[in-house]
Amino acid sequence: MDRLKCLVCLQPVSEPLFLSNYFSPPRIICMECEAAFEQLQGQRCPHCHRLLVDEKTCSDCRFMHQYFKPLDRIQILYDYNDFMKEVIHAYKGRGDIKLARVFAYLLRGHLSYMKSFDAVIALPTSDEKLKQRGFSQMEEILSHLPVPCSRCLTMSSRLKQSELTKKERLKQVNPFAVSRPVDGRILLIDDIYTTGLTVHHAAEVLRAQGVHTVEVLTFARP
Ligand SMILES: [Zn+2]
Ligand SMILES: [Zn+2]
Repeated sequence: MDRLKCLVCLQPVSEPLFLSNYFSPPRIICMECEAAFEQLQGQRCPHCHRLLVDEKTCSDCRFMHQYFKPLDRIQILYDYNDFMKEVIHAYKGRGDIKLARVFAYLLRGHLSYMKSFDAVIALPTSDEKLKQRGFSQMEEILSHLPVPCSRCLTMSSRLKQSELTKKERLKQVNPFAVSRPVDGRILLIDDIYTTGLTVHHAAEVLRAQGVHTVEVLTFARP
């Protein structure tokens, strides 16, 4: 039988065989790669998890909440360390689609939480990006999980966010639109929480449709 290879580092996966894991699905990433996804460190804002340095309250939250209703909850799974950066780049930048299974694997402990929502929405990709990459990166991850996904958001193309200042980003038109009826409790899934503007924009259009709770789960936060 072929040795299984880690989907991230391509090294053979070796796992000690116990009765407890005999019937579990085979590992898709090695233990070293799994351990390289690190938890957030340091003192963090209890709401958005930004690293707080000599601050009592979070300036990101203060700024964002002047313009948007706060999200009901924000969860960040891991730190945006060099390893996470590289894996996200390989997935989104180089389009290594098999890594979607790795991200799905990282969500495995959150399945019952995800199933408790009326719908889980993968942050959509603009048509332009979809053409370049060939797949919608967040939807592809959710396609590997037994959760109630909903495709009810569409996103129009917009300027490259990293080239804009925070104020310029805020002045942009909300790039999201709701394409089918949605209500109840919604969970948004995205890859990285940076300024948070993307998920706040998505929450804004959902709430305008009568959604009462919007929670956010992302894989990493710088
Ligand atoms: Zn590995
Ligand atoms: Zn905050």
